[in-house]
Amino acid sequence: MEFLRLALDEAKKCTPTPTAFCVGCVITAPYPPGLKPVIIARGYSRELPGNTHAEANALTKARQLSQEQLAELFPDAPGPIDIDTLLTYADIYTTMEPCSVRTSGLSPCADAIIAAQIKRCFIGVGEPDDFVKCEGAQKLTNAGVEVIWLNGLEKECLEVARMGREE
Ligand SMILES: [Zn+2]
Repeated sequence: MEFLRLALDEAKKCTPTPTAFCVGCVITAPYPPGLKPVIIARGYSRELPGNTHAEANALTKARQLSQEQLAELFPDAPGPIDIDTLLTYADIYTTMEPCSVRTSGLSPCADAIIAAQIKRCFIGVGEPDDFVKCEGAQKLTNAGVEVIWLNGLEKECLEVARMGREE
C-alpha cells in the first residue's frame, strides 16, 4: 500500500487533459532476489514526450539507469546488475489498471509489462470505460503475471485519474 501511495503521488504530477487519464506508477525490485525491494523507477502519464503512459515511462526510466545508479540502489550487489534480469524480479504498482489497447498505435502497457517479465502487478483501481474497454488485468493474468488488486485507495486513484475531466 505504501508503494501505491507513492504511485498516487506520481499521478498527481500529471498535466491534466480531458482526453486521457492521469496515472502514476512505481517499480520496485529486490537485489539479490529475496531481499527487501527498493524503488528503481517511477513514472506518470505524459511524463516523457508524446502521449506516453505511466507504466511505459517507468519501464523506460528503469532501463536508463546507469550501473552507477544501480550500485547506489543496491549497495550489497556483488557485481554489475543487468536491468533486464532485475526487472524479472520486479513488482509494478500502478494507480490504474494497465491498458490493453492503444488507439495511438503505441504499444499497450500490459504488453510492455509482459515483455519485461515483471512478476507482479499491483493495481489501485480498474480502468473505467471512459475511453476504451480495458482488458489489461486479464491480459496480464493470461500471460502469467500475478495481478493484485489493492483495496482502499480506489476512490482517490480514480479522482486523480480524472483530474482533467472535471468541469
Ligand atoms: Zn498504458
